[in-house]
Amino acid sequence: MGKSEGADTAALPTVDSASQIGVPGLPATGWSADHTLAQLEHLRTHDVAWKDGRVFSLAYLVNSEVHDLATEAYRRFSGDNALNVEAFPSLRAMQRDVLEIVGGWLSAPATARGFFTSGGTESILMAMKAARDQFRHDETRRVATPNVVLPTSAHAAFHKAAAYFDIQLRLVPVCSRTWRAEPAAMAHAADENTVMFVASAPQYPHGVVDPVVEIAALAKSRGANCHVDACMGGVTLPYLTRLGVPLPDWNFAVDGVTSMSVDLHKFGYAAKGASVVMYRDARLRSFQGFITDDWLGGVYGSSGMLGTKSGGPIAAAWAVLHHLGDDGYLRVTRAARETTLAIAEAIRHDERLELRAEPDATLLSFGAAPAINADRPAVDIFAVADALATRGWYVDRQAPPPSIHLTVNAVHATTYRAFLDDLAAVLDDVGVPTTSRGVYGTLE
Ligand SMILES: *Cc1c(COP(=O)(O)O)cnc(C)c1O
Repeated sequence: MGKSEGADTAALPTVDSASQIGVPGLPATGWSADHTLAQLEHLRTHDVAWKDGRVFSLAYLVNSEVHDLATEAYRRFSGDNALNVEAFPSLRAMQRDVLEIVGGWLSAPATARGFFTSGGTESILMAMKAARDQFRHDETRRVATPNVVLPTSAHAAFHKAAAYFDIQLRLVPVCSRTWRAEPAAMAHAADENTVMFVASAPQYPHGVVDPVVEIAALAKSRGANCHVDACMGGVTLPYLTRLGVPLPDWNFAVDGVTSMSVDLHKFGYAAKGASVVMYRDARLRSFQGFITDDWLGGVYGSSGMLGTKSGGPIAAAWAVLHHLGDDGYLRVTRAARETTLAIAEAIRHDERLELRAEPDATLLSFGAAPAINADRPAVDIFAVADALATRGWYVDRQAPPPSIHLTVNAVHATTYRAFLDDLAAVLDDVGVPTTSRGVYGTLE
């Protein structure tokens, strides 16, 4: 910056000659705001219609009022930077408030400490990195080649963390009937280099809660960490319990649980880029951060993967949490749960379909019922997904086994009847085999 001070401005190229050089894709003369916004809206012509409640994946909505509040809060803080909360004490206060609320949902002890992160993936990356570094420096164990034992239902983000941080994964099959993690098999997979065991509450593919009590006890007996991935359930499970839904213990109330992840941009209905990773105490958390002064820019510290960290997601999460409040979360959780149960009931009563598991929370998956005979072959479940797409519904596809996955949230209370009507209609006319597996995430 300082260099241009007092420089001979006549030496700079004129606007005209600069535009002759040109930059591919960059307008030679800037567009008006109106034109730019119109172009943006045009670009999204073929995007999925999640605000209409026709998407059972990727997006979460209470109603446009809550969404607009999140957007407005995001807009006001989008340029503010939580990399340095000395400069932005408001962002420190908001993160502290959010962590306090999430700590309450997780029954976190007074000693618990966490960080606001950009998403479930970052929360999980950080919990994995913290476990690695904690045991690398552990006086008695000094684990140089760490491994983590996890069920095959655990989220792909653990695999990403393993690849990024050079941690070995020991994948253990889940029970083929309940889809829940099997603690005995997990015990078998562990050794003296195991630094962490993983449980999910609930796991994404089938929406069931793993036996957290048993897995945490196993972790404790081996002197290892236990991470409970509550990216999906961290907000909903406390309210489901209040609504009388029977659930196994799943949070910090369980002895041996050392860290947890909770996504606010899912069932917290916050804007995207909002999650929390929580540790049982400050010492565990200390292995997450990074600090250096070994460069020419001074002391540089950051809590997670990000450097510059937008205030937008933090302000949006703070706003939505306070706007919905305890009664709001109870209400939207009830709506999502009742809708989930209604969809599960319809699937159970259709002999062409098979519910993969009774939903513990607000996620479910279903596939084709086995063929009855040559005249009644099994339906092609991905052809069902294709046919639903032509009617404007977007569902997730997963395998194995080939299944449709629905993430049911508050907005679907207004649309699920139409969805079930269309599901019944497409089941009557599918049958074209397809091999498309569908993707959960893409590389672009
Ligand atoms: C969504 C999800 C994640 C990953 O979170 P992102 O916000 O997509 O990064 C991790 N675990 C579970 C169970 C999830 O559902």
